Amino acid sequence: MSRAAEIARELIAIPSHISRTTNENELARYIADHLSNYAPVDWNYVVADRPNLFVRFGESPIKLLFACHMDTVDPWGKEEGKFSPFSPTIIEDRLYGRGSNDMKGGIASLLTAIEESESQNLEGMAILFTIDEETDFLGMKHFIENQAFYNTCFTEETFVICPEPSAGICNSQRGLIELRFTVHGESAHAGMAYPGNLNQGNNAIIGVCQAIAKLRDYLNLHQHDTLGHNSMNLSFIHGGTNSGKHIISRGNMVANICRFTLDIRPVVFEINAQSVADFLKNEITNTGLTVSRIAKIHDYPYMFTPKEDFQKFNQIVLDVTGELEYGQMIGYAEGEMIRNSLGLSVVNYGPRRNETSHKPDEYVEISQLDQVAEVFKKTIRAYCL
Ligand SMILES: [Zn+2]
Repeated sequence: MSRAAEIARELIAIPSHISRTTNENELARYIADHLSNYAPVDWNYVVADRPNLFVRFGESPIKLLFACHMDTVDPWGKEEGKFSPFSPTIIEDRLYGRGSNDMKGGIASLLTAIEESESQNLEGMAILFTIDEETDFLGMKHFIENQAFYNTCFTEETFVICPEPSAGICNSQRGLIELRFTVHGESAHAGMAYPGNLNQGNNAIIGVCQAIAKLRDYLNLHQHDTLGHNSMNLSFIHGGTNSGKHIISRGNMVANICRFTLDIRPVVFEINAQSVADFLKNEITNTGLTVSRIAKIHDYPYMFTPKEDFQKFNQIVLDVTGELEYGQMIGYAEGEMIRNSLGLSVVNYGPRRNETSHKPDEYVEISQLDQVAEVFKKTIRAYCL
């Protein structure tokens, strides 16, 4: 078995999802044990019992930063999959287990690359391991807000790799906005709603649908050369007649309440939680409805790093894999915060992503672990030796 697969098995066997009995702490201990042979490991507790790790090789300014998250999503249940989430199983080129693809496989490739480099002599490299990437990004937010405390020293040239499962070099991703609205209209007998000059009531559901249709047109006005269009998903809607306690279905009443949730994946900075909330509120109130609640659940911008910013890495990927592809991350990943808050060049690059991330029977291809380890080894050599 390859060294990267061996390490990946050990990482998978240590659960690191967030539950009453588990979190990232034990995995952090494994990683720290592993790396303390090469460099000092700082434990930075973000919340009780849940640390970020920061490992710095040498004392010169950081040229290369690897940013990894230690948590995984929850394991799958017995009935949901064929394999066990924490007893890694290998079948041919596939290693099954929770986190194998996202992102313990990528971490295993990185630890392998460090073992196989002359790591005592590395200068200008650092590795950040964060908590909570799959939930609220507590670890990355802590890192961004407390850089001095982490003793970082970045320059304009600092290059950042997040070993997320990826499709080629993922140098872009859409942002993430989630908004929840509660909108009120005016009830009336359905028969009075439209005909003639009666026209009583103001339907909250219809008003919301019209505003959302206008929002779609507005979003389509903004595009990004590489990322294309903003996407929009009306993911929840619940409306009808407000009975005081519940929203009920009354065919003969004009709906006087509507709640909805919108998920938008923006590709330009102009589209953010505030601008979308303002646009919708304006459209909705223009029809005579009122808005009683706007909750901004997520508000993260898009990320894009031009490929000209990491020429050396492009060449290494081409040399090792024989191809050079650029892709987008599918979901929101926290490399965006490093890119937009610190202005560094950030890419996601790890084992080839597959459809099992976050799903039952998650797997990673072992040949991919080995290939990524090779890319990382050459990258470390090119930037830090
Ligand atoms: Zn991930």
